[in-house]
Amino acid sequence: MATQLYPEYPPDLNEAEQTYLLSNLKDWSIAHGLAVRPTASYVSAETDPSGALATTAPVTLFPSLFPRVCFEQAKSVAQAYNELYSAIASDEEWLKQTVEELVDIDDFIAELWKVHLAVKQEGYVQPLNLGLFRSDYMVHTDPTNPQSGPCVKQVEFNTIASSFGGLSSHVFGLHKHLLAIDAYPETVASINDKSLPESKSVPGLALGMAKAHEAYGPSTGGLPTCVIFLVQDPERNVFDQRHVEYELNKTHGVRTFRLPFGRVLEDTKVDSDRKLIYTPPHAPSKQFEVTLVYFRAGYSPDEYHSQRDWDGRLQIERSAAIKCPSVLTQLAGTKKAQQVLATPHSPHLKRFLPDDAQAAEVLKTFAPIYPMDESEAGKEARKLALDPETAMRYVLKPQREGGGNNVYRRAIPGFLKDTPETHWPAHILMEMIEPPAQDNVIFRNGELQKGGVICELGIYGACLWRDEGGQSGREVLENFEAGYLLRTKGSGSEEGGVAAGFGSVDSACLV
Ligand code: ADP
Ligand code: MG
Ligand code: MG
Repeated sequence: MATQLYPEYPPDLNEAEQTYLLSNLKDWSIAHGLAVRPTASYVSAETDPSGALATTAPVTLFPSLFPRVCFEQAKSVAQAYNELYSAIASDEEWLKQTVEELVDIDDFIAELWKVHLAVKQEGYVQPLNLGLFRSDYMVHTDPTNPQSGPCVKQVEFNTIASSFGGLSSHVFGLHKHLLAIDAYPETVASINDKSLPESKSVPGLALGMAKAHEAYGPSTGGLPTCVIFLVQDPERNVFDQRHVEYELNKTHGVRTFRLPFGRVLEDTKVDSDRKLIYTPPHAPSKQFEVTLVYFRAGYSPDEYHSQRDWDGRLQIERSAAIKCPSVLTQLAGTKKAQQVLATPHSPHLKRFLPDDAQAAEVLKTFAPIYPMDESEAGKEARKLALDPETAMRYVLKPQREGGGNNVYRRAIPGFLKDTPETHWPAHILMEMIEPPAQDNVIFRNGELQKGGVICELGIYGACLWRDEGGQSGREVLENFEAGYLLRTKGSGSEEGGVAAGFGSVDSACLV
């Protein structure tokens, strides 16, 4: 068990103080859209047949404490990570080698690769790519050298549907408001105006999209243009997406539409120049040329119900719309690619980050990750994973996104025994990062949960690049850090997903 670094935090509230804080939290959240649609177990379909109700997003009552040096470290590598992943996504040869180990044992990855091959054969018509990435970290202290101080280690890098940027700006706003109205007792000196960094994720992500929209240029056929938010339906986390959408409308004057993933073939077509044309179902006489398709869907195999859904994905990929992300950018974000980069003594990072100083800073954020194949490193990993004692220090991950897919610690040996050995290489084995323990109170579905928590810091990055193919064909047009997210979960849970039902959104109080 990690030691408790901050035993005095958060302060205990008496009943009157708690009532004051909570009533303000509940009202501020709804007034500012720090909200989600309720789960069916919280509000049944019978109570809310028209789906009109919303509730406070799961949030922490207090901003969690986070070491300032770690926060600065994570932000300082954001642009290097944008550079790294845009380079990987533009290196088909390298991705092919990474994907090759998976195609026979992971149907989802195989289908994504097929989409790329089909478009490659026809020829890509859009060299521009947008990445709205999120690099996730936890605080780590080297147990063999505690004097070295805390640093961040990367949990994973997301290249598709990096969520919570919309809510993150607002949870910062909530905690700042609670501070301003004295809802935090005066004894909590740590929370003050200088210790709460603003999360600029809403303007940051919207700016990334606006830059892509602008780079696409006006419609040559004289149609009005639009950005498509490709979404799951139903979507409980809709306000998170709406905040970014409204910012894009209001600040950048960009027209946006939400298109459910299953309706791509109904509502869009690709014209003879391969422009993606969108017809809104509510206004079938109108047509818009799509400049950018922003994916908040399409990352999980459950979303592809039949060939028709794959045909829809192909339709977008072969079109001239800019994709955020393209299939290749999505594939650059697999856990496998992360493992290939992070396997100790891996030569791969240098290929993508020729600047040694930049590569060294990125390397510092890697935790050890091993393949589960038959290579030397893989054999070593298999030993560690099968031994119940050593497995306790690891997490086993398949090539999936969205939370709820990993196998943790003591469950690993049994899981492997129940899985045919031929499928083991579809996973990677990663050392668990053990952040310092601290307490907080989470407000979720109208209930308070108080106790030990674990925080995960996400740093958003926006990157727009042109990929004309070949070694020298990549040109980065925009590369900036785009705000932060802090997610906090009860320390009893291995998983951290807010949408998957494990965590809450939080903001950082830097110490
Ligand atoms: P996903 O793409 O499904 O979000 P992640 O790699 O982020 O997959 O894993 C899900 C969750 O599992 C994380 O949010 C984190 O809480 C936990 N987790 C994953 N890897 C580690 C690790 N190396 N150390 C500690 N916790 C981890
Ligand atoms: Mg994750
Ligand atoms: Mg992920």
